[in-house]
Amino acid sequence: MTENTSYDLVIIGGGIHGVGVAQAAAAAGYHVLVLEQGELASGTSSRSSKLIHGGLRYLEHGQFALVRECLHERALLLKNAPELVHLQPFLIPVYADSVRSPWLLRAGLTLYSLLGGAGRDTRFRRVPRHQWTALDGLKTTGLKTVFQYQDAQTDDAALTRAVMASAQTLGAQLKTQATFISASSLGDGQKDHWQIRYRQDEQEHTCTAKVIVNAAGPWANEVLTRIATTAKPVVVELVQGTHLVLEGKLEQGIYYLQSPRDQRPVFAIPWQLAGEAAGSAILLGTTETHFTGNPAEVHPLPAEQEYLLETYRYYFSATPKVRTAFAGLRVLPMAEDQTENKNQYAARQRETVLQTDCPDFPRLLTIYGGKLTAYRATAEKVMHKLQNSLPDKAPVADTRTLPLGRSV
Ligand SMILES: Cc1cc2nc3c(=O)[nH]c(=O)nc-3n(C[C@H](O)[C@H](O)[C@H](O)COP(=O)(O)OP(=O)(O)OC[C@H]3O[C@@H](n4cnc5c(N)ncnc54)[C@H](O)[C@@H]3O)c2cc1C
Repeated sequence: MTENTSYDLVIIGGGIHGVGVAQAAAAAGYHVLVLEQGELASGTSSRSSKLIHGGLRYLEHGQFALVRECLHERALLLKNAPELVHLQPFLIPVYADSVRSPWLLRAGLTLYSLLGGAGRDTRFRRVPRHQWTALDGLKTTGLKTVFQYQDAQTDDAALTRAVMASAQTLGAQLKTQATFISASSLGDGQKDHWQIRYRQDEQEHTCTAKVIVNAAGPWANEVLTRIATTAKPVVVELVQGTHLVLEGKLEQGIYYLQSPRDQRPVFAIPWQLAGEAAGSAILLGTTETHFTGNPAEVHPLPAEQEYLLETYRYYFSATPKVRTAFAGLRVLPMAEDQTENKNQYAARQRETVLQTDCPDFPRLLTIYGGKLTAYRATAEKVMHKLQNSLPDKAPVADTRTLPLGRSV
């Protein structure tokens, strides 16, 4: 066992939530350490659809506050991270047999625009019929209209690295290939602190912290079992989402499609593999498949590939070659009234759940669920919940204005 360093916060997990909290904590003046068992963004935060968006479809489920918050965060990211987050046209084709009618989509897009502040970035329009032939080979038989609006796209792993780099410039520390082993409480009452054990370079290390933030994503409840606490785990469902990277190009933007099999949304997105020119491939996803087992072993299933290719073929009458595929896990907290209709994931609550061991003086906080887009707002909520358990410090920066650049 080596050293014994003291931190205000130790964060378990170097995904977008872990690094987001590290940035917010360092900006608030705290001494913070992130422990990541692999590399940064090696979990869900490199396997998302890579959209920085309000989530048009969440309007159907009445999640207005979430959509408004995400659109606000989108605006901040467009300003603070121009190398990493950029607007893209989104195209929604509406066919005679589409589930959503043009008037419903128009109403949804109007509300989306209003929730986004009705500025230039939130405008939408119908693509004139004479321009349909330029839409990357999109099927026009039965096509009634095509809406175009704007949302943003990023590289999720690069964004995660950039947020961590920003936290590090404010003094946060990061240890990768460092696996959290366990934590036990030392001391008594409000002066308690955690004794934390972790493994790095085949050696066991210890450190202490006033507060632990469990940002282990799909591993959160497994991590919780290794913390000596009375905090109850939130019951969650892990839902696997697969993406395919296809050969080909989409010149006009992101296509917001509807699976002909079950009417779920599927995005076809201009993308590229590492080292390639932007937009030299197509990212197609995603699926929603109930998952049990070890999160480290999540992988694309043949049935998911078939489902996605069937959707692509339906709209573009082509079967492009699959270059690669990846899968990630959504953490969907289960509310007590959500034990039925288990498979209606799209309708499931997407708000983030922040679970603490004690409401007034929390010393352990676990993050469940959430969106890449809202990571900064989530991190600020985490810091707000923890304020009674941390000493008063003078803030050194404001996360709403910190620039984020492309690092390695
Ligand atoms: C298919 C899919 C598509 C999505 N698309 C979008 C999208 O387009 N836009 C959007 O806003 N959101 C999207 N999301 C949601 C978003 O990707 C996630 O909410 C976010 O990435 C979760 O980040 P996280 O930090 O909570 O978890 P993770 O990124 O999984 O990070 C958890 C980290 O904890 C580490 N860890 C686990 N155990 C230990 C341990 N014992 N010691 C040390 N480290 C440990 C893991 O290695 C991992 O890196 C999508 C999600 C999925 C699944």
